Amino acid sequence: MRIGILGGGQLAMMMIKMSSNKHDIDFLVVDPSKNPPASKYAKCIKSEYDDIKSLDLLIKNCDVVTIDFENVPSHALQYLEKHISVYPNSKSVEICQDRLNEKNLFVQNNILTTKFKPIGSEKELRSAIEEFGPDSILKSRRLGYDGKNQIIIGNQDAKDVWVATEGAESIIENKVDFMTEVSLIGVRNIIGETFFYPLVENFHKHGILNTSIAPFEDHSLQKEAEIIHKKITSAMDYVGVLVIEFFVDKNNKLVANEIAPRVHNSGHWTISGANISQFESHILAISNLPLKAIKTTEYSGMLNILSKIPDINAIEKIGVSDIFDYNKSERMNRKLGHITVTCPTKKLLLEKINTISKMLY
Ligand code: AMP
Repeated sequence: MRIGILGGGQLAMMMIKMSSNKHDIDFLVVDPSKNPPASKYAKCIKSEYDDIKSLDLLIKNCDVVTIDFENVPSHALQYLEKHISVYPNSKSVEICQDRLNEKNLFVQNNILTTKFKPIGSEKELRSAIEEFGPDSILKSRRLGYDGKNQIIIGNQDAKDVWVATEGAESIIENKVDFMTEVSLIGVRNIIGETFFYPLVENFHKHGILNTSIAPFEDHSLQKEAEIIHKKITSAMDYVGVLVIEFFVDKNNKLVANEIAPRVHNSGHWTISGANISQFESHILAISNLPLKAIKTTEYSGMLNILSKIPDINAIEKIGVSDIFDYNKSERMNRKLGHITVTCPTKKLLLEKINTISKMLY
């Protein structure tokens, strides 16, 4: 069995690392960058994602194709789909590439989300600011992640905000006064069987995921999140791991924020903290191999290494489960690696996470 992956970042690297020795599967990666993280573990074709020669190589040599990020051109996925299985399908990826489509999917499925409106001109923005007020955020419909391409409206004038967007199609939405943020990681196979990880609590800094803690122990929110996840995956005929990010508002209600059609940063802890990692679960689902019921017995945490690599030896002495270095060059707020910790009690876990976070930049 050979799996093609569009995108050779750290998520592809971990999919390969966590499953290639176990399941007699090998991988062929397409990525336009030089030496992406996955190139250390699999053959990597250096080309644009929609290069026809590379896509034809995937068709000829692979049994199924997947992605490690959602901004793969959808015409490349549609081309592949004519010849070979692509999971997740192009329709799902297209929805998740555009915040407006994502919001509409929530609304169509009666899933609570922020109040929002599409914005395509300065005039529309001006009247939306009057309607939504200063506690609102303008987000570009496309290519927005980790808080990128987002503007908090505050007291700014519509003209200045519009200039800052460079005319990008956007949505405006209410700022949510949330208690916390959580994500649900679930995996669905070709016949629609679905398994879930426990909810993860996520803490962001400057819009970028900083720390994740699992499990977030709220039985009713877990059940509610699973129902929402099932609605979304069945609406999109989805296969593989899909992650939904939620705000938990002041009434303890889940407010859907966004969907990732792939394995996710908030699930890195599953490598050491669950009986099966999100990476292996995804590979089993897209390879049409039996899924495993998911079990966790301890508390797990993940800290992203951002901007600068810390003193790894000093962190190892604290007793961690894993430290991953993605071998990327240092840059402000770039994800360079992550650290996972698993402990028998939440108190112990939080103490360790606190100590480690002081050692990061
Ligand atoms: P996003 O790219 O939409 O996931 O946004 C990144 C982070 O910015 C979120 O995880 C939140 O911490 C924050 N954020 C985004 N949208 C909102 C919102 N409507 N209200 C409050 N915080 C938000």
